[in-house]
Amino acid sequence: MTEHHQVLNPATEEVVATVAATTPEGVDTAVAAAAKAQQGWAALAPADRARGLRRFAAEVDAHAEELAALEVREAGHTLGNARWEAGNVRDLLDYAAGGVERLSGRQIPVAGGIDLTFHEPIGVVGVIAPWNFPMPIAAWGTAPALAAGNAVLLKPAETTPLTALRLAELALSAGLPEGLFQVLPGAGPVTGTRLVEHPDVRKIVFTGSTAVGKRIMEQCARQVKRVTLELGGKSPNIVFADADLEKAAAAAPMAFLDNAGQDCCARTRILVQREVYERFLELLVPAVEAVRVGDPADPATEMGPLISAVQRERVRSLVTDDLPVAARGSAPEGPGFWYPPTVLAPVGAAAPAATEEIFGPVAVVLPFDDEADALRLANATRYGLSGSIWTRDLGRAIRMSRGVAAGNLSVNSHSSVRYATPFGGFGESGLGRELGPDALAAFTETKNVFISTEE
Ligand code: NAD
Repeated sequence: MTEHHQVLNPATEEVVATVAATTPEGVDTAVAAAAKAQQGWAALAPADRARGLRRFAAEVDAHAEELAALEVREAGHTLGNARWEAGNVRDLLDYAAGGVERLSGRQIPVAGGIDLTFHEPIGVVGVIAPWNFPMPIAAWGTAPALAAGNAVLLKPAETTPLTALRLAELALSAGLPEGLFQVLPGAGPVTGTRLVEHPDVRKIVFTGSTAVGKRIMEQCARQVKRVTLELGGKSPNIVFADADLEKAAAAAPMAFLDNAGQDCCARTRILVQREVYERFLELLVPAVEAVRVGDPADPATEMGPLISAVQRERVRSLVTDDLPVAARGSAPEGPGFWYPPTVLAPVGAAAPAATEEIFGPVAVVLPFDDEADALRLANATRYGLSGSIWTRDLGRAIRMSRGVAAGNLSVNSHSSVRYATPFGGFGESGLGRELGPDALAAFTETKNVFISTEE
């Protein structure tokens, strides 16, 4: 019997939709159709593939408001964020289209002939997406994979399949071949596992928790399947005494409260140089407490709900009563999975709240003495996804940027994601990079051909 998943609006707990889960047999059928479609797609002239992706981007653009509204309803994202996300999908499809005709190989000088390299598509690619940024993360794997000549089977998270399903419809109305991009809703251990284990799925792009990512990497290893992993984080926000403190404190709240803290790049460990620690807290506390939490569809709202009751329980379990609360913002009463913006200080560097990814609107503040101490604290984590460095000293900004073991750093800013720049983690935050100029190459196999010129 087919299983069904209810999609709830996290701000109201109302049922938005009921979606049928894909059975393992359904995955097998989808893989066969994808493999067939991929052959025709890869054989197209590059210009025609690029045109198809640009039409897909135009469809996304034409339906951007509808997609954003859907993201608000199923994921509880603020309207402003959801609009940015729809734009990110469009831009990424356009950017990937621009790469199709530049995916050229090389001619390498060798003795006795000519040596050529080709970037061949991998075949059928499985993309497994999380619920925290359902729409953009679906596109981060899908757009470059299609551009490089692959077919894509996308498994969205159980809680957030709706924008992904709509994207698949828009791909068809843009004229992409049937079967080339399919969305397979379903449970991770059932639908996801079948996708990972299917021998004709030759690459998996997984974004989600580190625990599941490790399991998927093991499963992929059994078939030497290609795998890209984008996993968790516990990113530092390092504030030096010479920084523009007002600016750093004004930016710090949304650096960990954006998407209610359900952001793999959230700067949840705020490290502040000891001589300005008290002053920084004085600035940070009112800024956190002033964040507008409420109806995500209201354009004035800055923070919405958590995704689910399960997620709220997880946050509660890590923010135990014995921890000192330095700031606590407001959250609506009544239905919805709300949790207030929270700052914990002082907290020991080894406390679970300072080391575990909470994935909720919670940050800890820790003091440090000098650059070496800041680096020690920043790198005292198994993760390494993002981080910020606030200083007016250019040499220090560069030294710290080189020293922090993370894939995406920003100086005097909390920006992490741009479709044209590489994104990914060090350590247990992931494997491989998405986005940026090399994104298409990650969906190809390099082939070398030697042609003898000997008589
Ligand atoms: P999750 O690992 O529970 O689930 C992610 C996806 O994997 C879902 O689609 C789920 O159904 C599927 N899945 C679960 N078990 C599976 C299995 N055994 N086999 C195959 N698929 C399976 O993660 P989540 O709770 O949805 O997402 C939150 C996590 O994602 C956080 O840790 C966050 O940091 C991380 N994340 C990372 C990035 C990044 O780019 N590094 C971006 C966003 C989120």
